[in-house]
Amino acid sequence: MSIESILIVGGGLAGFTVAQNLRARGYAGSLQIIDPAGIPYDRPPLSKGYLLGDKDAAAIELAPASWFAEHRIGLVPATVRALALEPLGVELEDGAVLQADRLVLATGGSARPLPIPGGELDSVLVLRDRQDADRLRASIAPGTRLAIVGAGLIGAEVASSALALGAEVTLIDPVETPLVPAVGPELARRLHAMHAGAGITVIHGTPAGITRTGTGHRIELADGRVIECDEVLVGIGITPNTALAEAAGLQTDNGVLVDENQRTSRPGVYAVGDMARTRRPDGTLARRGEHWEHAMNTGATAAAAILAQEPPVHGASWFWSDRHGTHVEGVGDMNADGTTILRIHDGEPVAAFRVAADGTMLGAAALDGGLTIKAARRIIDRGIIVPAEALADPGVPLRKLAR
Ligand SMILES: Cc1cc2nc3c(=O)[nH]c(=O)nc-3n(C[C@H](O)[C@H](O)[C@H](O)COP(=O)(O)OP(=O)(O)OC[C@H]3O[C@@H](n4cnc5c(N)ncnc54)[C@H](O)[C@@H]3O)c2cc1C
Repeated sequence: MSIESILIVGGGLAGFTVAQNLRARGYAGSLQIIDPAGIPYDRPPLSKGYLLGDKDAAAIELAPASWFAEHRIGLVPATVRALALEPLGVELEDGAVLQADRLVLATGGSARPLPIPGGELDSVLVLRDRQDADRLRASIAPGTRLAIVGAGLIGAEVASSALALGAEVTLIDPVETPLVPAVGPELARRLHAMHAGAGITVIHGTPAGITRTGTGHRIELADGRVIECDEVLVGIGITPNTALAEAAGLQTDNGVLVDENQRTSRPGVYAVGDMARTRRPDGTLARRGEHWEHAMNTGATAAAAILAQEPPVHGASWFWSDRHGTHVEGVGDMNADGTTILRIHDGEPVAAFRVAADGTMLGAAALDGGLTIKAARRIIDRGIIVPAEALADPGVPLRKLAR
């Protein structure tokens, strides 16, 4: 049966990429993206350039309104409240029903609330969408005492941006060195130390409660320490938005379960981006990807699968982050079984490579080393064996080893 209509629920990067790839691959039928946010926009700038005021709302749109018109992609500014499976379709919050031959779920994730008394206060800030970023920006002025709970990627980025905006930042995390699984302990230590070096108060501790105090907040830690601040931002990760899928009876487990072509347990329904989790052919569940490139890759794969075309080949997973003027990139799995080889420059680690016993590279991370990571990715994807001494030598450009 030919496909005449496709509905995409959620217009973040993943949903947008599905639409973009469907048109690029020649799909000419009806195509609509449903999202209350309207024109799809990019999220990484929300903790960086957008928060700093260097980029405005138009600058972070994934494409201008004219592009959607040109490509005949309808933008439905609404929230889906239920999925229908027989026939396939969605029900919008105003009760309107839309039907389609294929459904793509791309609803992303929501900021995970801090599970302590006061964690649910309306005044506690999170950062997931543009409105959150606008609210956070409006809360920060020179001298604002901002406490950030969670020193992972988002917490660290906001800490850095808020400091640049003149805030007095306190960064709290129960883990002594965050990000070890992503970049390995050596680079993680160096990255975390940058906060204190830049003038941020770094606290290793577990928040136990948040209370409002007149104009501000008081955070009590489990060990009795107290932090007085004006604003609190919680950045402790996301929970995937699976409620619609669960209510419709799709299989979920910390994400909507999909096969390697982004197909859910229901024929004709696909899931992509932060909310999808891959079940491998052997039945094991992959870790759910929550990065920008993963959203693009899964979107591109779903588009190919919907049209029964050859799926694109994606290499090792990749992410980046920025803090205090340092650009961090990681590729592959720095947590995999193996040993770590470091590249040291001026006495400090600048890159780390995770290598298996047989010399195969499994993961790599680098600070201000975009070209190194590009080459590492090639080495990982092609299974090139590189001598350990060369990896450790900062005088050897990695691209020479990636040939
Ligand atoms: C502040 C911030 C900074 C980031 N920085 C980086 C970075 O530096 N590097 C990196 O690799 N990654 C970064 N990421 C992660 C990256 O942006 C995400 O992985 C990516 O946005 C996921 O895309 P998505 O489309 O799956 O989900 P989202 O972007 O969350 O989009 C989901 C969309 O679904 C819509 N939606 C939800 N429910 C419904 C419903 N019921 N009806 C209709 N629409 C609905 C939402 O409105 C939303 O627009 C960052 C994320 C954030 C929030």
